[in-house]
Amino acid sequence: MPATPLTIRMHERDNVAIVANDGGLAAGTALPGGPVLVDRVPQGHKVALVDIAEGAPVLRYGIPIGRALKALPAGSWVHERLLAMPDAIGLDGLPKATVRRPALPPLEGYTFEGYRNADGSVGTRNILAITQTVQCVAGVTEFAVQRIKAELLPRYPNVDDVVALEHGYGCGVAIDAPDAVVPIRTLRNLSLNPNFGGEVMLVSLGCEKLQPERLMPPGTVPIADARAGAEAAGLDVVCLQDDAHVGFMSMVESILRQAEVHLQRLDARRRETVPASELAVGVQCGGSDAFSGVTANPAVGFCTDLLVRAGASVMFSETTEVRDGIDQLTSRAASPEVADAMIREMAWYDAYLKRGAVDRSANTTPGNKKGGLSNIVEKAMGSIVKSGSAPISHVLAPGEKLKGKGLTYAATPASDFICGTLQTAAGMNLHVFTTGRGTPYGLAAVPVIKVATRTDLARRWHDLMDVNAGRIADGAATIEDVGWELFRLMLDVASGRKQTWAERWKLHNALVLFNPAPVT
Ligand code: CA
Repeated sequence: MPATPLTIRMHERDNVAIVANDGGLAAGTALPGGPVLVDRVPQGHKVALVDIAEGAPVLRYGIPIGRALKALPAGSWVHERLLAMPDAIGLDGLPKATVRRPALPPLEGYTFEGYRNADGSVGTRNILAITQTVQCVAGVTEFAVQRIKAELLPRYPNVDDVVALEHGYGCGVAIDAPDAVVPIRTLRNLSLNPNFGGEVMLVSLGCEKLQPERLMPPGTVPIADARAGAEAAGLDVVCLQDDAHVGFMSMVESILRQAEVHLQRLDARRRETVPASELAVGVQCGGSDAFSGVTANPAVGFCTDLLVRAGASVMFSETTEVRDGIDQLTSRAASPEVADAMIREMAWYDAYLKRGAVDRSANTTPGNKKGGLSNIVEKAMGSIVKSGSAPISHVLAPGEKLKGKGLTYAATPASDFICGTLQTAAGMNLHVFTTGRGTPYGLAAVPVIKVATRTDLARRWHDLMDVNAGRIADGAATIEDVGWELFRLMLDVASGRKQTWAERWKLHNALVLFNPAPVT
């Protein structure tokens, strides 16, 4: 017997719904209380609930995601080739801080076990990071890291890992171009991530454009009182071109010697009970499908509200995926100044895309469309829900550090690797990543909790996905259930009581800098 037809409609104004059944629904299927399907509709794809005239808006999330290119009878499959995409909303005359809602009630009594840092931030892992000024040193550093892991790390059992912050920047770039500030501050702030305990060591080549003092100007590295003497001598830099280095092995020995100084200090640290307000969570999505905006992202949005209520920091990002909802976001800004900052970031990104002769529609992938997302407008509506309902308190330009608690819009590209890198630079100590098509994404420096949008994905990728939000579409759990499950899992993962699947398999992607400036 065929399964009961299951469709999901997001807003009472919507004239389409998505098919939730595994494998989709066959033509001729009668939807409960709705039309009979004219076409076969794949899972996650849209069906017209009423007759939609040629040129009429197709409404999802209560807004037009496009206009019908031809008449679409009730029961038709509504896919991307049948829709004309609306223009982006203009950036003039947007509502600013107009949404006035009662403050969410505080959420008290939740804690986790974290590593308190000298600058007040809290780490969820205890990792030695080795910062590099330039790609030229990557091979030598990686060789040294393998030896550190094999020879030194076993002697420092309280240190979780050693990570080389490899990147492609540092030379062959227009370092004085105005936009070069983005990759440079990203690298600087990456090395100051709370999971690195304030221990900064650099490997430099010597002749590169990005000199150590430019990367980490005086005063950048926080100095704990107890070790002021050790740091007073200046930055800890191993320079490969130093005359003292004779042969490759002497470079490697220098890196090992310096690493050990930091490992000793990191090893002396212990977890302590801290309030949930010390979480700094970055949320993003990747490999999205039509369920992203129905199951996983709304559950993340519910959890975002819990985090804000607990006094934590939460960042949402991915500029091209919020551009089409800019009016909702400026309305939700905590002040007109925050709304202006948001508009500034959108305008900057519009100009950046225009310089490359594209617009926000360049975001969507073949997989998105196969998964039922017709265009960037529909994708954006499903992406924004990760931000929950709290007022937006802060805005960060790419590569900047968090400015305070509450909900932050951290402007980043939607690219999974670049967004993850920029949120790490902003100071995130926990990452939440939703996926519908499926990606084995991970980061070396920060635990990544992956949330599947569909039960089918969670079942097939049972040892890669940490949470199954597909149960929401199955009717087996509510958005609130999954939101709370995620919140509790965050406290366990932050405390080191649980590992994410990506940590268990040591899966991680490269750090990828956002460099909007020219290379030479
Ligand atoms: Ca992404």
